[in-house]
Amino acid sequence: MEEIKSKANYCLNCVTKPCSNKGCPLNNNIPGFIKAIKEENYKQAYEILSETTVLESVCGRICPHTKQCQGSCVRGIKGQPVSIGELEAFVGDIAIKEEYKLFYNYDLIDHINFRIKESDSIIKKMKNKECKLTYKEMIENINDIAGIRIVCSLKKDIFSIKNLLQKLPGVRTIKEKDYVTNPKKSGYSAYHIILGIPVVLSQQIIYVKVEVQIRTMAMDFWSSLEHKMKYKPEDVIDKKTSKEWVNCAKIINKLDNKMMLMS
Ligand code: SF4
Repeated sequence: MEEIKSKANYCLNCVTKPCSNKGCPLNNNIPGFIKAIKEENYKQAYEILSETTVLESVCGRICPHTKQCQGSCVRGIKGQPVSIGELEAFVGDIAIKEEYKLFYNYDLIDHINFRIKESDSIIKKMKNKECKLTYKEMIENINDIAGIRIVCSLKKDIFSIKNLLQKLPGVRTIKEKDYVTNPKKSGYSAYHIILGIPVVLSQQIIYVKVEVQIRTMAMDFWSSLEHKMKYKPEDVIDKKTSKEWVNCAKIINKLDNKMMLMS
């Protein structure tokens, strides 16, 4: 938190707002939301950003800040620009957790992880799809630039989170897969959705696709380990071990069901 505050305090709150007026296609009130962070008024920071953006956690991570708002930041003339993207993502993350806390009176979300595809693999994919290497084409044609993993305590929380995400204003559901009701052959259980997050450009609104995975803490533990084992270069998993992994996932599913009934 101290690090975030010092990043916010680095902002000069310029009256002319070049970061907003020149750099941001949404004209986000950047000095305004940063001022609210300085004052530790995160609700106000979120409300300011929400005037032009939804799912700030995503925009804060996928917008090309270095070219846009941070590229126009006066701090960047002589040194480093203000870390606007990081501050925006911070506000978005707090809002997701706090909003759910408010609705459900307990902490629905344990933690959230974000993944942004490496620029090299985005370019490779765009070339394979014969796209022009522009921001607009990237947003329109690449589905998995941004990924969010939301980890919660109980299976029933998965559906509450999914419903809340789908109700966010302007957000579109492009695709969804319910591996909670129908786990994968591997035993993996989670809810996957591809959401379209609206981003307003000067002439039009485009939808940035974000892959969201929602799963329990227990399944997250299994899945993270399974991923590590699967991609260990020195090991090939034999049939017997594969079966054991499936058994473990089944045990975790049973445990998740039991914990849900007990709470
Ligand atoms: S240009 Fe940079 S220093 Fe000035 S208000 Fe914007 S973010 Fe803050």
